[in-house]
Amino acid sequence: MRSGVMEMPKTEKVKMRLGKQCVICEKRREEGISIAFSFICQTCEQEIVHLNDSDQMYNKYVKQMRTVSSQYV
Ligand SMILES: [Zn+2]
Repeated sequence: MRSGVMEMPKTEKVKMRLGKQCVICEKRREEGISIAFSFICQTCEQEIVHLNDSDQMYNKYVKQMRTVSSQYV
């Protein structure tokens, strides 16, 4: 006999299909690379590779990495 006891909602582990949030473009992607605690989507990874000589892109990348890193400290 149930005496007003609420049933606990079933907790279910759901596989994340939305992907992770890219630290650079801040969009969720399923494919990409993980560096330390950061996730970089395939698109941005390609950009980094292609714009390897670009200080602007590199600075943005480093800045984003620092932002993310500080969140985990
Ligand atoms: Zn990205």
